[in-house]
Amino acid sequence: MIPFLDLGAATAEIRDELDEAYHRFMDSGWYVLGKEVDAFEQEYATFCEADHCVGVGTGLDALTLALRAYDIGPGDEVIVPSNTYIATWLAVTQVGATIVPVEPDEPTFNLDPTLLQSAITKRTKVIMPVNLYGQPVDYDAIQDCAQGTDIKLVIDNAQAQGARYKGRRVGGIADIECHSFYPSKNLGAFGEGGAVTTNDETVAKRIRSLRNYGSTVRYHNDECGINSRLDALQAAFLRVKLRHLDEWNQRRRDLAATYFSELSPLASRLSLLLPTVPDWADPVWHLFVIRTPRRDALREHLQQHGIGTQIHYPIPPHASDAYRDRGYSPDDFPIAQRLAGEVLSLPMGPSLTSHSIPLVASAIGTYAS
Ligand SMILES: *Cc1c(COP(=O)(O)O)cnc(C)c1O
Repeated sequence: MIPFLDLGAATAEIRDELDEAYHRFMDSGWYVLGKEVDAFEQEYATFCEADHCVGVGTGLDALTLALRAYDIGPGDEVIVPSNTYIATWLAVTQVGATIVPVEPDEPTFNLDPTLLQSAITKRTKVIMPVNLYGQPVDYDAIQDCAQGTDIKLVIDNAQAQGARYKGRRVGGIADIECHSFYPSKNLGAFGEGGAVTTNDETVAKRIRSLRNYGSTVRYHNDECGINSRLDALQAAFLRVKLRHLDEWNQRRRDLAATYFSELSPLASRLSLLLPTVPDWADPVWHLFVIRTPRRDALREHLQQHGIGTQIHYPIPPHASDAYRDRGYSPDDFPIAQRLAGEVLSLPMGPSLTSHSIPLVASAIGTYAS
């Protein structure tokens, strides 16, 4: 059996350090915000090469609070990818703004900057791309489209902690970048967690207040905030895992390199498309996603060989029941629709052993014959 992702094995590797963090936290007598959250925020800001980090409850809250920090609301337009996890869209819905989907560039799966100009209107307030599957978007090309306007760039970085764009760490490049620490992410907690990073002190202060009932001085509330604080025990665990993140991301890179060398010879015979990495991108392989028109049959075949796979994502947001009332038709976003029918995520994770990759490749190889 080769599972799609084995979180238990990665946890076992650092069990002593996690136990130490747990005991330190339990003995501290302080359980909401405080020292562990402060320390994690500082360490994660440093890691991202960003000036500020604010820990919040979830990745979705990070996205929503980023929009609230810019007072985005009804009448404002926010550009999002047509092919993303639905959370990106839900953040826009939560603040009552209008979703403007833009299709991806097919080889990289990421927002196509050449389609941006025609999507921008006088009402556009934010462009919110996603560093999908662990690969950074083309920050410069996207920023160029917003040049000379007040449009803000907010990145959904739920999937790419540790990636680099032109040598710079993602998280410290755009106006605000939003992170999720959902357990399966590259930096995952043992429960829920999220953060925003930014170089803008005003934004950081606003989100720090919004996450804590709109308050910075106890019992003084400047506005109607929410309760979305990064859990302090999760912060203690995340501090441990952050120390291992670069090493674990390197393992993912090595596994991806092995996938490329094992799968390239099979690609044309099986009409597989392998991921494309621009030369300015240093991705962290949150997922290793291939494409094939016979995706469902291949997935079934791999299942029979004991190989776990996933589909990210089978239903694009515009085709989801959640957005039924918007009256989209499936082919309003044909690229997102096509990708949803063809993408397949192969086993990937820090505890996957490199000798598993040839086994996955040979099972894929026997599929056609
Ligand atoms: C995981 C994820 C989110 C949401 O994160 P949560 O912590 O689960 O709220 C948002 N966007 C993308 C692209 C994600 O993968």
